[in-house]
Amino acid sequence: MNLVLMGLPGAGKGTQAEKIVDKYGIPHISTGDMFRAAIKGETELGLKAKSFMDKGELVPDEVTIGIVRERLSKDDCEKGFLLDGFPRTVPQAEALEEILADLNKKINFVINIDVNHEILMERLTGRRICKDCGATYHLVFNPPAKEDSCDRCGGELYQRADDNEETVQTRLDVNIKQTKPLLDFYDTKGYLRNIDGRQDIDKVFTDLDRLFGGLHE
Ligand SMILES: [Zn+2]
Repeated sequence: MNLVLMGLPGAGKGTQAEKIVDKYGIPHISTGDMFRAAIKGETELGLKAKSFMDKGELVPDEVTIGIVRERLSKDDCEKGFLLDGFPRTVPQAEALEEILADLNKKINFVINIDVNHEILMERLTGRRICKDCGATYHLVFNPPAKEDSCDRCGGELYQRADDNEETVQTRLDVNIKQTKPLLDFYDTKGYLRNIDGRQDIDKVFTDLDRLFGGLHE
């Protein structure tokens, strides 16, 4: 069960990753965790990555790919893995194909949790914070009784600058532009499965579960 998980911010990728890992017992491999482990373990590649990160520079592909290779070679990936945050680019995806071929593995599915723009905006701009007590609300997921005042203390609610429509729009645009070639790459390979992420969390997972059902011998 070798999976790559993709989805825009707000699509609910993290939640589904947790559910997949819980049910199927495969490791959740995110780029951040991989880097942290390699640095903590002081592996040669970990130290190399750290030297770039300490200078505030991007870790070059060859280092990142090396770290992915090491991680995917570990015993706990025998039953499968869930890659999250890697690959980010087509060259990285091509490198991943090579790594997996060397390890005698292949990707089963690239899952794209697909949510339309309007809903992403609603999810990503909905956070409100109380000026007085710091309580946080979300207009969709955890709405206050009155839209602009705090349930707990009656304080005024505000929106952080990071959450405003323009900032979120820019973040989404960058992500969409970056992801498109990768989705096309995996579509051509036949790995891509789009899952409707507009549904509630459990329904999304039911769809995933049904998809994975075909993988059991
Ligand atoms: Zn308050």
